[in-house]
Amino acid sequence: MYDKITDANFENSALKVNPPIEKPNQVNDEFLIKYKKKEDLSVENFVLGILNGDRTILSRAITLVESSRWDHQKKAQEIIENILPHAGKSIRVGITGVPGVGKSTLIDVLGKQLTSLGHKVAVLAIDPSSQRSHGSILGDKTRMEALSTDENAFIRPSPSAGSLGGVAKKTREIILLCEASGFDVIIVETVGVGQSEIAVHSMVDFFLLLQLANAGDELQGIKRGIMEMADAIAINKAEGENKEKAILAQGQYKNALHLFPIMESGWIPQVLTCSAYSKEGIDKIWEVINQYVIATKSNGYFYKKRNEQNLNILDQSIETQLKESFYNNSYIKDVIEQTKKDILENRISAYVAAEKLIENYFKEIKQIK
Ligand code: GDP
Repeated sequence: MYDKITDANFENSALKVNPPIEKPNQVNDEFLIKYKKKEDLSVENFVLGILNGDRTILSRAITLVESSRWDHQKKAQEIIENILPHAGKSIRVGITGVPGVGKSTLIDVLGKQLTSLGHKVAVLAIDPSSQRSHGSILGDKTRMEALSTDENAFIRPSPSAGSLGGVAKKTREIILLCEASGFDVIIVETVGVGQSEIAVHSMVDFFLLLQLANAGDELQGIKRGIMEMADAIAINKAEGENKEKAILAQGQYKNALHLFPIMESGWIPQVLTCSAYSKEGIDKIWEVINQYVIATKSNGYFYKKRNEQNLNILDQSIETQLKESFYNNSYIKDVIEQTKKDILENRISAYVAAEKLIENYFKEIKQIK
């Protein structure tokens, strides 16, 4: 027979459960600050984290930049304003070329060489097709296998939402964040499709075009405009049997470049051969980039270009914001479709219609004030 458990003998009973002891913190406070929900991290914490080279916080700041949420954008702008004095101290290199030319393989090898020299390398991308394909370049980090596990490298795929203009704006801001975080070489990769090259060119110091040696049609694969922007052309896959063809192509490109107008930088574009595969000629690419930086810093072009790029951002921002304000105006929203109809049915010319719309838009704005 068991004793019946009563209040009186309960204290000694095996059925009694002690109250839980509070579990001590397993992590230190610093860790907690870092891993608090994104929203909880203050601008100050973001800025400190970025300046301390904290990759998690850098990634989070980039996510804010990429977000289309208004409050995220606002926070991102505040962070950028704060880190701005610490940005700008890098060499910004744009790399382009058609898919398959070897961009990611080359960036992998070049990036590793640079980190072994003590550099910190950030690899970003502009890919206008990424809206459709969810990141066709840099989507897969394994494309840069060696670099993606290098603690002195940071690889970030292309922002995938928005227009090319929007993606370019975000990439520019990401460059600043990476620079403030201590990355001193920024590589921006893009595919050779035209518009995105112009966007990348507008944000880098040095523009490298990767090509292949296809005897006979060297100059056809890529638009002339892109060749004109290149500070260097590297003919990749120049190993083994391909080497001879590459050297031949090198000569042809050199001749072709002679026909182009002299660049404002005073720099004569270089034509190189390389193999990302056998790693030949990759160090030469870096040497040429350095020569370019030295030459253009000493003639002032380096700074002039950066200043121009900055002022272009002002121009573009004004244009974007005015357009947004115009098309979001309730009066314009009401009349725009009818105006378009009128133009198509020849009731009014597009010029006169634009003038009228703008005039009425400004009247509306005044009234709101
Ligand atoms: P991307 O599309 O321009 O980024 O090109 P990838 O770097 O993905 O390379 C496309 C293909 O070319 C891959 O199969 C690479 O292994 C190969 N490849 C890249 N560089 C070289 C090279 O220097 N020589 C040879 N033979 N193949 C290469």
